[in-house]
Amino acid sequence: MGDGRIKEFIDQVQRFLKEEQVITEREGMSHFCYDATEIRFMPDVVLLPYTTEEVSRIMKIAYGMDLPVTPQGGRTGLSGGALPVRGGIVLSLLRMNRILEIDRKNLQIVVEPGVVAADLQEALKGHNLFFPPDPSSTVESTLGGNVAENAGYTRAVKYGVTRDYVLGLEAVLPDGEIINVGGRTVKNVTGYDLVSLLVGSEGTLAVVTKIICKVLPKPAFRRTCISYLDDLSAAADLVVAIFQGGILPSAIECMDNMSINCVADYLTRTELLRREAAVLVLIEVDGTHQGAVDAEAQRILNLCNGVPGVIESKLAENDDQAEQLWRIRRETLPALKAKGKDHLEADVVVPRYRLPFLMGAIKEAEAGKTVKVATFGHAGDGNLHVTIQYRKRNFAELEEANELLGEIYRKAVDMDGKLTGEHGVGITAKDYMKIQMTPGEIALMKRIKQAFDPKGLLNPEKIFPDEDE
Ligand SMILES: Cc1cc2nc3c(=O)[nH]c(=O)nc-3n(C[C@H](O)[C@H](O)[C@H](O)COP(=O)(O)OP(=O)(O)OC[C@H]3O[C@@H](n4cnc5c(N)ncnc54)[C@H](O)[C@@H]3O)c2cc1C
Repeated sequence: MGDGRIKEFIDQVQRFLKEEQVITEREGMSHFCYDATEIRFMPDVVLLPYTTEEVSRIMKIAYGMDLPVTPQGGRTGLSGGALPVRGGIVLSLLRMNRILEIDRKNLQIVVEPGVVAADLQEALKGHNLFFPPDPSSTVESTLGGNVAENAGYTRAVKYGVTRDYVLGLEAVLPDGEIINVGGRTVKNVTGYDLVSLLVGSEGTLAVVTKIICKVLPKPAFRRTCISYLDDLSAAADLVVAIFQGGILPSAIECMDNMSINCVADYLTRTELLRREAAVLVLIEVDGTHQGAVDAEAQRILNLCNGVPGVIESKLAENDDQAEQLWRIRRETLPALKAKGKDHLEADVVVPRYRLPFLMGAIKEAEAGKTVKVATFGHAGDGNLHVTIQYRKRNFAELEEANELLGEIYRKAVDMDGKLTGEHGVGITAKDYMKIQMTPGEIALMKRIKQAFDPKGLLNPEKIFPDEDE
């Protein structure tokens, strides 16, 4: 932005921010110009506030000068939500990283948005508590980012998603006004549910500055079972059989053959991997009574062994084996990325039973193409992560990858699904919004955006298709 407004803005914020809170040189700002999509946009200035009051003052000045502001957490986003597409101000919440309270009597926590998910889990361990929403990006993603994306995780099938745990939020509106929505009560039906609206709003409505959440007592026992099958539809039947058997697992994950092989190439310990399988299903049960957990795990193993086309099923015998099994799943995305190709990612979600059929339909769509597709995800809640590997510099592959991505979105929506289950729309899925939503529904969402952000300055260019901005 070369019109002098940025210089004047910086002059104004430097009156109340310390030198180390204002980054203007290119090298420093380059750390804040990308996220896990690896797409890059350079901001004009990066600010690192410590307090809500600082956020409010920054927003007020930016609003008065018509400058765009993009909130940022750990930059692990997979839809480009934290990228400053129009330049302007990056507001990194990383320094607002205090756990303000662990309220053991009410089973609640109060945290600042920059708290890293893994740090919160560590702090809760000592109290025998846990915060179920713990995405695989736990070592880098922040609570603010997880709230803004309504993050999911492997145990969402039993425990629900981030939204199910947020009771209250303090947030700063684009014009600098500080609001408090929800609070410390478990029940609250006073007026519209603004907490639920802000959770998952991808930083486009307000900047979250404080989060009040429920936490749960930590289940004392867990068992993990792995099953390798030679047929995707057998996986669908297995998942249904588990639920119909009256078992509510804490996780059911799946990986296709390509994901299995990429992880086998990536990890050093591969003795638990079966490269020939069409699909891997990983199931976990947890609870407070060891006998009950062991009995459920045994029933799951029996169900796995009874599935036609089962190659091998086994229960982890100890914590080390369980950790090895979970590593296979956790390292899938890094393993796929390590293949060194360019990626397009989708995060579609369908009703649970349809997920393996969606995996099959994607395999069919891939047949005969040069680009390769890996699928893996949360079989328990129907959320499938799709990674298309291609070479950006090869125009034919780029076209093929984009066509395939559109086809995958359409297939998911045709199966009563949605474009994204946990990664958000951001910039990567916004052009596909019309596959799922009617013009009237998009217009309603835009009116909500307008009510919070009449000037369209907070995290612009996100969620809405380009011609609708
Ligand atoms: C290896 C890997 C594994 C992953 N696993 C999962 C998973 O299991 N489940 C899952 O759901 N996602 C997963 N993700 C995606 C990503 O981690 C999540 O979307 C996460 O919630 C982003 O948090 P973040 O702090 O990195 O946010 P960022 O990427 O910095 O930002 C994400 C969005 O939140 C907004 N935002 C950030 N902070 C605030 C704030 N304080 N106020 C308002 N808006 C804000 C940004 O503007 C942006 O729109 C994974 C990503 C990677 C790279």
